[in-house]
Amino acid sequence: MIYKRSSALFSEAQRVIPGGVNSPVRAFNAVGGTPIFVEKAKGAYLYDEDGNTLIDYIASWGPMILGHAYEPVVNAVIEKARKGTSFGMPTEIETTIASLSVSMVPNVDKIRFVNSGTEACMSAVRLARGFTGKDKIIKFAGCYHGHSDSFLIQAGSGAVTHGTPNSPGVTQGTAKDTILASYNNLEQVAQLLEIHKNEIACIIIEPVAGNMGCIPPAEGFLQGLRDLCDSNGVLLIFDEVMTGFRLAKGGVQEFYNVRADIVTFGKVIGGGLPVGAFAAREEIMNFLAPVGPVYQAGTLSGNPLAMAAGLAMLTQLNDNPGIFTSLASKTEYLHRGLDKVLSTSKLPYTINRVGSMISIHFSETPVTNFTTAAHANNETFKQFFHGMLNQGVYLPPSAFESWFLNDALTYQDIDNTVAACEKVVQEIA
Ligand SMILES: *Cc1c(COP(=O)(O)O)cnc(C)c1O
Repeated sequence: MIYKRSSALFSEAQRVIPGGVNSPVRAFNAVGGTPIFVEKAKGAYLYDEDGNTLIDYIASWGPMILGHAYEPVVNAVIEKARKGTSFGMPTEIETTIASLSVSMVPNVDKIRFVNSGTEACMSAVRLARGFTGKDKIIKFAGCYHGHSDSFLIQAGSGAVTHGTPNSPGVTQGTAKDTILASYNNLEQVAQLLEIHKNEIACIIIEPVAGNMGCIPPAEGFLQGLRDLCDSNGVLLIFDEVMTGFRLAKGGVQEFYNVRADIVTFGKVIGGGLPVGAFAAREEIMNFLAPVGPVYQAGTLSGNPLAMAAGLAMLTQLNDNPGIFTSLASKTEYLHRGLDKVLSTSKLPYTINRVGSMISIHFSETPVTNFTTAAHANNETFKQFFHGMLNQGVYLPPSAFESWFLNDALTYQDIDNTVAACEKVVQEIA
């Protein structure tokens, strides 16, 4: 494939944008080479600035669960835009999407819309602190909850891809209130709750991790956290920015039947526009301004275009719950295909999958937490990534990211992906 125009655009971008990108993972630092500039996308395909067509496995990192330029979403946005793009005043559509979200997600009565997953998680933690009157939080190494200060302690995703899991600029004062635990280690969480007795406001977790590749929660882990939270008066926050409206209508709470106290959303809930949200039962949500004392606000929060896109997306998912099983079946089919090809190679590998989230770690051992994810062979991943790209398959440009399938992918696309994998594996050997 030729990337002449992408290269030129990247050089130009680097002159005026740090690293040429507005979010670090896009820069390809983890895999080397030049990021691909997208001209447009439709369904399961990306069309880049050099005229290449790529099968897309990132779906804008999750939101395009029904494929790119999905007609009902596009039409909803166009129709809304004609009526004005922002008012800074209440609109009816905010109530419509709030009602729909709350009806789809278990254990929540009210929801507040913001502009990104970062904002959702940041606000959820502030709310948890305000509600419990406690300062400290427990987070898990390798989990990413956006780039708010409290979370940039052993964070996953771009933060680890770029080798700075603890960012300069985060003060010691902030860092000391974030207590780190290892994913899937319930015993350690119990110990930490004992050591920091009556100091912990909340435990925040990606209930299926997707920012160190895909890592499923071990059997009983989430329920174990739930029980520990209950016995210690700690709130459990499920960061469902990735998993919400992707694994099931009701996200992980429904998928694994475990109750969270606060749930955060992003990605799918905005249908590809900048939206985040957090939700909880009434007693907790009423702690928020203007009803309660915890402040949270946003000039563009509940923006009509964003709400129109999100509402169109959630309506499709709500009306067609078969999408979740269809997506999971496609992902399982991909899983089996990749497994078949890789098992005949000499490459050590682990494939993790939950629903429509999947990733490959080139690892000798099972990948169950950040330490095991970080031990995988990144050199092999680089070769694999570029090999697949050459075959017209766009994977996340880092092993510390989940792949996201979209329902526009056909079984033929997946067969082509597996055939590409077969070629690439031979090349690497
Ligand atoms: C993407 C992501 C975020 C951050 O969302 P942004 O919209 O990028 O701010 C937070 N948590 C999880 C689990 C995510 O995957």
